Amino acid sequence: MLPVVALVGRPNVGKSTLFNVLTRSRDALVADMPGVTRDRHYGVCRSGERPFVVVDTGGLSGVDDAMDVLTAKQVRLAIDEANVLVFVVDAREGLLPQDYVILNELRRSGKTIIAAVNKTDGLEEDAVLAEFSAFGVGKILPLSAAHNRGTADLIEMVLPLLPADEASATEAEGEDGSIRVAIVGRPNAGKSTLINRLLGEDRLIVSDVAGTTRDPIRVPLERDGKRYTLIDTAGIRRKARVEEAVEKFSVIKTLQSIAAAQVVVVMIDARENLADQDLTLIGYAMDEGRALVIAINKWDGLDQYQRDECMRALDRRLVFVEWAKQVHISALHGSGLRELMRAVVRAHASATKVLVSSDLTKTLEKAYEGYQPPLVHGHAPKLRFAHPGGNNPPTIVIHGTRTKHIAPAYQRYLENFFRKRYKLEGTPVRIAFRESE
Ligand code: GDP
Ligand code: GDP
Repeated sequence: MLPVVALVGRPNVGKSTLFNVLTRSRDALVADMPGVTRDRHYGVCRSGERPFVVVDTGGLSGVDDAMDVLTAKQVRLAIDEANVLVFVVDAREGLLPQDYVILNELRRSGKTIIAAVNKTDGLEEDAVLAEFSAFGVGKILPLSAAHNRGTADLIEMVLPLLPADEASATEAEGEDGSIRVAIVGRPNAGKSTLINRLLGEDRLIVSDVAGTTRDPIRVPLERDGKRYTLIDTAGIRRKARVEEAVEKFSVIKTLQSIAAAQVVVVMIDARENLADQDLTLIGYAMDEGRALVIAINKWDGLDQYQRDECMRALDRRLVFVEWAKQVHISALHGSGLRELMRAVVRAHASATKVLVSSDLTKTLEKAYEGYQPPLVHGHAPKLRFAHPGGNNPPTIVIHGTRTKHIAPAYQRYLENFFRKRYKLEGTPVRIAFRESE
């Protein structure tokens, strides 16, 4: 599971600046993708040896309307679910009474605390640290988030404090030949209904579901001769009340499930308008490079007009993932589930497809002949050869010259060209350029 680090502190100390530095995606392609929405509170830091979830708890103050209440709940959840708390303070303002209030709250959680003293740029670091040592927090670090100074040290300090990596367990699970599937979606999209449907129909024996609250539950499922491992957070346990769905919804667990899965099924409620949160979930899955299937649930009982409207709206807003299959289902009645699982299998097959260098190079030549990248200062970027750079998602490494200047639009052209040639349905495709003479 991805470990979790929460940034906590007063408003204006620089939490969101720090969050942006830590979570800045290395993958420019995904960052440039039009239509991908980002959540400014949750992200994954990949600059260290091991990725971890970063939560910016910026929304701690002023809980008034319903949305804020939800945010405040998510903040508390974040502190609950965090492995390490980074307590951010402002070197310029010094140590304020509110800082002590927050620190006491954090101490009550019993979690490891790192005091990050931000905005030290232009200040005498030793004097600043001396002042803040009054907190009595053993782990203290000077920082300038805005100038990206000290952030690498922060990551270095965080990593050893995280629980042991369970990657080996994950790998072992992959070896049983099952496809790891995460079913994610907003509260009330129908996740638990779907999971219970899938499990109930095959009268599957649920292996030890006890699990602690922290661990997402993994349940084996066999259907039509295929084996799956469903990775779930709250959906598998039946809920007593509908409100519970909102209370139990955890962005962090969703991120962890996505990271642990091979294929992500994003469930959308056909009766609701597509929300930013739906797009954000899709954005997370893309950031992780996961294969993706979109399940449009509650298709039952809609008339033809409503169905047409729904499809039109989704096609318009989901152009950036037009490669992801949309399946209309009714989790309640069990319709469309065979098609859904078929789409999962196909997406997984695409994501793990074996690509061959010689053929990739031939395809690259064809793509280049068809349409060349625009000139850069009068010179055409040259693309010479290609080879596979890994699976899940399929990555194609292209060697050439002036590749730094290749525009995102041309990169997408290449991506689509390869996608078509190899029938890569339901998975992102990544192109990585290497400069070579
Ligand atoms: P948040 O409310 O805690 O999320 O704080 P923000 O990240 O929004 O930052 C508040 C203000 O502090 C902004 O104007 C930032 O530009 C500024 N700031 C953030 N980090 C630094 C820093 O390292 N040095 C200086 N001088 N200013 C910073
Ligand atoms: P979750 O929060 O995503 O796990 O959502 P639930 O599975 O708890 O479903 C939320 C509500 O939607 C419940 O009242 C379900 O009975 C209802 N629901 C789920 N799937 C369908 C469906 O396919 N059709 C209809 N009409 N209702 C559904």
